[in-house]
Amino acid sequence: NENAEYLVSKIRTIPGFPKEGILFRDFMPVLADARAFGLLLDALEAALPVAADEFDIIAGLEARGFLFGPALAARLGKGFIAVRKAGKLPPETVSESYDLEYGQATVEIETNIVHEGSRVLVVDDLIATGGTARAAASLIEKCGGTVAGFSFVMELVGIGGMASLGDCPTSSLITMP
Ligand code: IMP
Repeated sequence: NENAEYLVSKIRTIPGFPKEGILFRDFMPVLADARAFGLLLDALEAALPVAADEFDIIAGLEARGFLFGPALAARLGKGFIAVRKAGKLPPETVSESYDLEYGQATVEIETNIVHEGSRVLVVDDLIATGGTARAAASLIEKCGGTVAGFSFVMELVGIGGMASLGDCPTSSLITMP
C-alpha cells in the first residue's frame, strides 16, 4: 500500500560501503522524515514477533538499534537496554565475543540490568548473517534473561541469518537482496 511504499522509498542503498562489493542499506532517511518515522514505529508494533505482554523489556543493538528501540519501547510501555560494542560501558559488564568474516567482535551489557527471568525483545535495523543478534541473545541468556523474540527493520535474504536464530520468533519489515 501507499504507506509501505513511502517507508521503503526512504531506505537508501549505498554501493561500495564500507567496502567494495557491499550494498549498504541505510535507514537514516526514514528517521529524518516525520511521516516515515511514524510509519516505521507503526509497522514494527504491528509486526511484533510476539505479543507485547510476552516480553518485559526491549534490548537494542549498537548503534542503529538505539535509534528506534527506545521509541518503540516507550510506545509499548517497556524499558530499554543497550547492547553495546566492547569498551563503551563503564565496568561492570558481561560480554560475549563472536566471529566476523575477518576477526572477532564483542558485545557487552551492564551487569544486573537484565533481571533474572526477564523476557527480552531484541531489536536492530538489519540482520545479515545473524552473528550480532546471536551474540546479543547469548549475552542476555548469560545474564539470566530469555529472548522472547527478534525484531528487525530489514533482512538480507539468502544468507541464512533468520534461520540461524533457530525457533525463536522473529519479524522483519523489509527483505532485501
Ligand atoms: P550480522 O551480524 O551479519 O547479522 O550483521 C548485522 C549487523 O551489521 C547489524 O548490527 C547491522 O546494523 C550491521 N549491518 C550489516 N550490514 C548492514 C547494512 O547493509 N546496513 C546497515 N547495517 C548493516
